[in-house]
Amino acid sequence: MKRTFSIIKPDATKRNITGAINNIIESSGLKIIAQKRILLTESQAKDFYDVHKDKNFFTDLVQYMTSGPVVVQVLEGENAVVFYRDLMGATNPKEAKIGSIRNKYALSIEANSVHGSDSLENANKEIDFFFKENEIVG
Ligand code: ADP
Ligand code: MG
Repeated sequence: MKRTFSIIKPDATKRNITGAINNIIESSGLKIIAQKRILLTESQAKDFYDVHKDKNFFTDLVQYMTSGPVVVQVLEGENAVVFYRDLMGATNPKEAKIGSIRNKYALSIEANSVHGSDSLENANKEIDFFFKENEIVG
């Protein structure tokens, strides 16, 4: 079994659809093995999205990610990283496949409801960033 890291983003927590998103996650067979609702600090959001620091959307992205609560999660399942990226759909909701989380719920390319790690290496880094091992219960 492999793990990936997920965030339910502020646009979704504000619309009270964290349960609806978790329902899609659990119905897919992925297991939520850690979860907490937090408010990211500006410094955490900047660190988390450091790879995008030179992009023109970086300042907006940090502001958006700190604009309300997020739910950070560890998901477990076979091939979890690739499987969850597929379940999420493309970054731009206009390109997200029918039935994916972003197709159903994303409001825009920025406010796209969920994050999922893009590699096993990043999944492990992102999990370590938010969770202690004893907070993850498979
Ligand atoms: P993904 O979340 O699908 O891995 P990226 O890593 O490319 O996408 O981007 C990280 C996040 O930055 C996106 O999920 C989205 O919230 C935001 N973002 C990406 N591209 C844009 C853009 N062109 N304009 C505004 N925000 C963007
Ligand atoms: Mg990404």
